[in-house]
Amino acid sequence: MASRPTDLAPSFISHAPGHWPEVEAEQWNDPRWQLRNRIDSLAELETRLTLTDEERAGVLLAGNKLAMSITPHFFNLIDPEDPDCPIRRQVIPNINEGWTAPEEMADPCGEDSHMPVPGLVHRYPDRVLFLVTDRCASYCRYCTRSRVVSGVGEQHLDTQMEAAFRYLERTPEVRDVLLSGGDPLLFSDDKLDKILTRLRSIPHIQFVRIGSRIPIFLPQRITPELCAMLKKHHPLFISIHTNHPRELTSEVRDALGRLADAGIPLGNQSVLLNGINDHVEIQKALVHKLLMCRVRPYYLYQCDLITGSSHLRTSVTKGLDIIEGLRGHTTGYAIPQFVIDGPGGGGKIPLNPEYVITREPGRVILRNYEGGVFEYAEPTVIPEDVLSGLHDRALETA
Ligand SMILES: *Cc1c(COP(=O)(O)O)cnc(C)c1O
Repeated sequence: MASRPTDLAPSFISHAPGHWPEVEAEQWNDPRWQLRNRIDSLAELETRLTLTDEERAGVLLAGNKLAMSITPHFFNLIDPEDPDCPIRRQVIPNINEGWTAPEEMADPCGEDSHMPVPGLVHRYPDRVLFLVTDRCASYCRYCTRSRVVSGVGEQHLDTQMEAAFRYLERTPEVRDVLLSGGDPLLFSDDKLDKILTRLRSIPHIQFVRIGSRIPIFLPQRITPELCAMLKKHHPLFISIHTNHPRELTSEVRDALGRLADAGIPLGNQSVLLNGINDHVEIQKALVHKLLMCRVRPYYLYQCDLITGSSHLRTSVTKGLDIIEGLRGHTTGYAIPQFVIDGPGGGGKIPLNPEYVITREPGRVILRNYEGGVFEYAEPTVIPEDVLSGLHDRALETA
């Protein structure tokens, strides 16, 4: 388990401006400064971090697959002394990305074959995934959409906004729209406001949510103005993406607090990653800090079979063991649903540890989180003679 003792503490450390002493706080807190100063070249990276040979080769290979880009805010969380740092391994390319394992795919969730309009994935009858951009504030090396995200690969996202809106207008089964990408919160307030206003003008769309890692990569973007704009479009939920407790700094907590104060229910999606968070104590620290940030853990994903991810993927058993280590041992609100997004396009499939020992007519035998065994009896039907006896007694009392 590559982590520091403080990773398990429920404390929110500030990292601003930390290892960037040349930067004024005013610049540091400016989201445009953070975006302009992202680390996206080998030369810049090497001025701030001593790379391993595997990382240097990885950065060189990333240029025509999934770009490297890291906000100073997120980069600051890296422990430069630790090559296995859980922050580092999420965003710094590695030579292992250059190998496609036999089980891996460019489009592991079969999204391209479920797009009635380019950029709109309609897999479930009642809801759609709307890919509004291919850009993020920083790029996760295990990105499930690395075939199009960051814009440097062979395939390009070709979202047709107007065609997508028209599809939604003529498809009344769709009651839930999930804006994702890329990261929709990279758009200006004005552009996002226009998209949300258009969606809100469609009467059958009851529910809108945004999937974003901006609160983690770029908490400075969560301005009071953004929150005031989002607030006009309720009911609006936001799903954030965080994997390790160290990502939850005081700046991130405050940004999440601003979203929560705008009445936006917050969920978190984590990806189970080898050597990064595939340990129950790390997950427990993460979910406890999420609750302190007013975020409800939503999904824990088994890592998709995306090309070049074998070094970041771990076994399904580890995920099940983590859920078993949480259920009963901590707050129910803190426990995410462990899922696998069905390879080829099966949608999210829940995986749960087995608590039913046997199920037979009339009863189930269960175990609890401590291993205690319990029998639950199914309902017994009231016998006819008892029922008529009760009727007789009721008449006598009348
Ligand atoms: C994840 C996903 C959704 C949303 O699923 P929920 O279980 O409702 O969060 C919708 N469409 C697609 C294609 C998805 O991958």
